[in-house]
Amino acid sequence: MGAKDTPILTLVCPNCGESFPSMMQMDRPTFAKIRMESVLEHCSACGKAARFRKGDYFFVPDEGST
Ligand SMILES: [Zn+2]
Repeated sequence: MGAKDTPILTLVCPNCGESFPSMMQMDRPTFAKIRMESVLEHCSACGKAARFRKGDYFFVPDEGST
C-alpha cells in the first residue's frame, strides 16, 4: 500500500476555504474527457454545499494519510 500514484480530485470550499476531496474520484484521462456544467458538492470540512465548475477541480497527489 502507498505505492499507488493516484491523484485525488480536489476542490476548495468557497464557504470555509478548506480543500476537500470531490465525491467524483477519477483519474486524469477520464477527467479530461468528461463534460460538466456545474456540480453540487458538499464540503467535508464545514458541510455546506456549493456549486463547482470543471475549472474549480484540481488534482492533488495522494501522499497517504494526513
Ligand atoms: Zn467548507
